Amino acid sequence: MYDYLIVGAGLYGAVFAHEAKEHGKSCLVIDKRPQIAGNVYTEEVEGIQVHKYGAHIFHTNNKKVWDYVGRFATFNRFTNSPVANYHGELYSLPFNMYTFNKMWGVVTPEEAKAKIEEQKKQAHITEPKNLEEQAISLVGTDIYEKLIKGYTEKQWGRPCSELPAFIIKRLPVRLTFDNNYFNALYQGIPVGGYTRFVANMLDGIEVRVNTDYLADREAFDKMAEHVIYTGPVDAFFNYSLGTLEYRSVRFETELLDMPNFQGNAAVNYTDRETPWTRIIEHKWFEFGKDANGNDLPKTVISREFSSEWKPGDEPYYPVNNEKNTALYNKYKELADGETKVTFGGRLGTYKYYDMDQVIATALDAAEALLG
Ligand code: UDP
Repeated sequence: MYDYLIVGAGLYGAVFAHEAKEHGKSCLVIDKRPQIAGNVYTEEVEGIQVHKYGAHIFHTNNKKVWDYVGRFATFNRFTNSPVANYHGELYSLPFNMYTFNKMWGVVTPEEAKAKIEEQKKQAHITEPKNLEEQAISLVGTDIYEKLIKGYTEKQWGRPCSELPAFIIKRLPVRLTFDNNYFNALYQGIPVGGYTRFVANMLDGIEVRVNTDYLADREAFDKMAEHVIYTGPVDAFFNYSLGTLEYRSVRFETELLDMPNFQGNAAVNYTDRETPWTRIIEHKWFEFGKDANGNDLPKTVISREFSSEWKPGDEPYYPVNNEKNTALYNKYKELADGETKVTFGGRLGTYKYYDMDQVIATALDAAEALLG
C-alpha cells in the first residue's frame, strides 16, 4: 500500500510526488508513456535538447513558483521572441512597435495607437465576443488578417469567430520595442533539459513507466489511499457524458547538417496555406552551444502540424469554447464527488494552463492534502 498513487509523471504529478515525499508519504508514480516528464520531455540529439512534445519556455510572475523550480535546475536566460512569417514577410512578435512599423510604416507609439484605433472603429467592435473581435480590437484588421487569422484557424481548426477571446489575450500588445513574448518577471529554460529537471523532482520516488492506469484501474486503486490523476478527465469517467474536444499536434523532426536553419528558436507561419503552424529550431533555446560553450555544428528542427484529437492521439490543448466548457463543468461535478481522487494538470482539469500554473496548482493541492 502507498499513501499516494500518482497517475502521470508530468509536471503536476512530479511536483505533487515531491511534496508528498517531503511530508514523509509513500508514493508510486505511474505513466503510460515509456518515459517521465509528460509533454515537457526533452531528449538530447547531437548535443541539442529536443523538445519532443513541443516547445516549452518556462515563464512566470509567481516568485514562489520561480524559487521552487530553481531547486531542481538552473534556468538559462532564454527570452522567447518568435518571428512571424507571412508569405515570406517577416514580423516581430508579440505585437509591438517593430510589428507596427513593418506593417504600417508608423514610427511613434502615438501613430501606432491611432492606426489601431482607426481599424477598430471601422470594424464597429464595441464589446469583443470572440477571438476575431478581440484580436481586431487589440491590434486592428491588418495584423489580424496577416498574423492571427491563418495561424489561429490552423492551430484550432475552427473559425476565429467561434473561438474564445481569452486565447488571444495570452499575447501581449505593446507600444514599445520589446520583443519579449511574455509579460513575465522570470523566464528561462532548464539547463540540461526538462527531463533532468523532472527527474530531479522525482529523485527517490518509485516510478513505473509503460504503465496504464485506466487499463487496470481496480488493481491500481487498491494500491493507495488516494489517487492523483493527471490524465484526461473525460477518459477517467469512460467518456460517460460525452467526449471533450482537444487539439493534437504532430511533429516532423529533422536533424540537419547545417549550423543555422532559421536563426531563431520559433518561426510562426501565419498564412493559411503553409500546412504547419510553426518551426522550432531547438538549439536556440540554449544559444546554439553545447554544455562546454562550443558552437554546435548541426541543428534539429521540428515542424508542427495541428489536428483535431481523436482516440489514440495525444491530447495537447483543451478547446475551451462554450460547448466544451459546459461539458467539462458536468465532468467537474463528477470529479468533485470522487473523494479519493484529486484531478490536476492541463488534462485533468481541462484548462489551457502554462507550466507555472500547473506547478502552482500542484503546490496548492499538496498544501491542502498534506498540510
Ligand atoms: N497566435 C496567433 N499568431 C501567432 C501566434 C499566436 O494568432 O503568430 C494566437 C493563436 O490563436 C494561438 C494563441 O495566439 O493559439 C496563443 O498563442 P501561444 O503562443 O500562447 O500558443 P502556444 O504556444 O500555447 O501554442
